[in-house]
Amino acid sequence: MSAKANPASLSCPVPIEDADRVQLGHGSGGKLSAQLVARHFLPHFDNAALAQLGDASIVSVTAGEVAISTDSFVVQPLEFPGGNIGSLAVHGTLNDVAMMGARAVCLTAGFVLEEGLSVAVLDRVIAEMARASRDAGVPIVAGDTKVVERGKADGLYINTTGLGVVDPNFRPAPARAVPGDVVLVSGPIARHGMAIMAAREGLSFQSAITSDTAHLAPLVDALRASGADVHVLRDPTRGGVASALNEIAAASTVGIEIDEPVLPVPGDVRAACEMLGLDPLYVANEGVMVVFVPAEQAELALRALRAHPLGAESVRIGRVVAAHPRIVALRTALGGTRVVDLLPGDQLPRIC
Ligand code: MG
Repeated sequence: MSAKANPASLSCPVPIEDADRVQLGHGSGGKLSAQLVARHFLPHFDNAALAQLGDASIVSVTAGEVAISTDSFVVQPLEFPGGNIGSLAVHGTLNDVAMMGARAVCLTAGFVLEEGLSVAVLDRVIAEMARASRDAGVPIVAGDTKVVERGKADGLYINTTGLGVVDPNFRPAPARAVPGDVVLVSGPIARHGMAIMAAREGLSFQSAITSDTAHLAPLVDALRASGADVHVLRDPTRGGVASALNEIAAASTVGIEIDEPVLPVPGDVRAACEMLGLDPLYVANEGVMVVFVPAEQAELALRALRAHPLGAESVRIGRVVAAHPRIVALRTALGGTRVVDLLPGDQLPRIC
């Protein structure tokens, strides 16, 4: 029995290309992958090293030691007030390189994309990422994209690795805090975590809380130029200022005391924390750093920090003591003291 062929039934069962969504084929290594890279990544991340499109990029570094840091970003939502996962992935890794006093040379970026991700969202993430990289003057010289099936990833994940050149004359380290140091913080705390919480929960507070996500190297350079003997730098990201100080107290085997009344928590952030039952000391930051310097250099360091827009609200929040090694103590407004311990788990998951 023969039937007239229906032309429609002869078409191959190839899915119609949906230009608005990431497809599994975009991770195939074939034509669609090449298109994705050529149309959506390369126009933004244009630089000589990446343009080689070899199996690896070649970059020049001066002789000496290098600092390397890697971080994976899984923040939800992907876009939030003040930035998106793209700018965060650049700032987060560059800041870790900067906290070692090193000068960043280049970044790499790996993307895990979920099938069905909106290409418009991907484009915005890439554009922000490229802008952050350009502003920092640190190119993304190598990259990778993979696609996983629908439901196997939350839109997209990004891993970035940063490489920097160590400055032999400026070597802050978590183990260098000594009694007599003062503890400075370069700006208002807890903004990033609360901006994410507000975006995630659809909460609206009196004012829109924006993430503080920023590249801190210019502020580190200001400190470097001041000549202050900086013992420790740390960006208090996940786990907040409390966790960063605990890590430093343990690494240096010293005690740290901080003064609650001077902690720079913006009013709207404090109100949001109270509403959600969160302690701002444990809430993530992405654009501030804690700085340890000898007490006699506190004013020198503060002047240098405050002269830069990112550090305009720098303040002294505490001191390093010989008593109670490995313990961070908070002097409260009422004159009491309480231990600021590490949290057993994450107060706010998926924050970076
Ligand atoms: Mg860090």
